[in-house]
Amino acid sequence: MALPVTLKEKNFLAANPTFFMEISRIKLNLPIKSPEFSNVYVICDGGEVYVIDGGFISEKHAIEITEKLESFGLSLSSSRFLITHHHIDHVGIVIWKKVNAFMHPLEIPFLKLYTDPSYFARPYLEWSRKYGIDMELLKPLISFFKTSRRAETSYSTGVRIETKGNISPLEDGEVLSYLRVIHTPGHCPGHLSFYIPSEKVIFSGDLILSVTTTHVGYYPGYSPDPVGDHVKSLRKLLELEIDVVYPAHEDIIKNPGKRISELIHHYEEREEEVYSAVEGDSRVLDVARKVNWSTGSFDTIDGWGKVLAFSETLAFLKRLVNEGRLREKEIDGVIHYTNF
Ligand SMILES: [Zn+2]
Repeated sequence: MALPVTLKEKNFLAANPTFFMEISRIKLNLPIKSPEFSNVYVICDGGEVYVIDGGFISEKHAIEITEKLESFGLSLSSSRFLITHHHIDHVGIVIWKKVNAFMHPLEIPFLKLYTDPSYFARPYLEWSRKYGIDMELLKPLISFFKTSRRAETSYSTGVRIETKGNISPLEDGEVLSYLRVIHTPGHCPGHLSFYIPSEKVIFSGDLILSVTTTHVGYYPGYSPDPVGDHVKSLRKLLELEIDVVYPAHEDIIKNPGKRISELIHHYEEREEEVYSAVEGDSRVLDVARKVNWSTGSFDTIDGWGKVLAFSETLAFLKRLVNEGRLREKEIDGVIHYTNF
């Protein structure tokens, strides 16, 4: 399907010399502090149309994507939506529109976070208690579970909704015409990246960002070592021939090797920082307070930021346990970490 000239003029990002494939970015502003925007990519080669990711879970984003596709001469029904992971800023179209969407099987159950949050409330609260999150830190989580649909148009419906999209599972190594599916867990257990070998480009979801480092946390339902998984996923990409990375946020990356190495270095450094912060029997919170966060000291970070910093610290502690450098022990019902 040929795209109209206006698309090529205004939104054109890449085209191969034979004009068979075009990649266009739809940049959607997010109603949250960070990241600032989500990138949705439309890939068209004259045949299959693939759309990578689906915006924030607001009806507004679903409408914006629909209208943009129509302006390209495309439609929701003629497009296949490949969703990199279940987070709130990636799945909007699947919640709001009857689209054909694909996700890794490990990600699909997490959509219940938006349609039936009570399903996750208990495991999250148990997780919080087990690792010693205090009530103050829990507030953002509790308010999240009190609202079923975090769409910016209806924050407080409290009503269970159904996911409108038709979702099919997609596994590592599957090939969809010109795209190869690559399982890149860490940020989420079933995080996917999509590689086009003929163009040497990859759609990396949240695995690689151009400026910031992706949040890798430990949550209920996640693997025992999300940081280890994430670093392995980054190394996996180093083995591929890639000229350009199209991330789900921030800018397009044209020096992938350098950026991936920087990111691996960051996670290795953070691991050592967390290791050094463990003294005697430490709770997650004791360690999180000693880590240097880019947004300031732990106690000055805002509500959700604290939950993220907490679960990120926990993910690194889990990594260290997995490597045999730390030990977990329970004291008065709360998990502590010790290096002896
Ligand atoms: Zn994201």
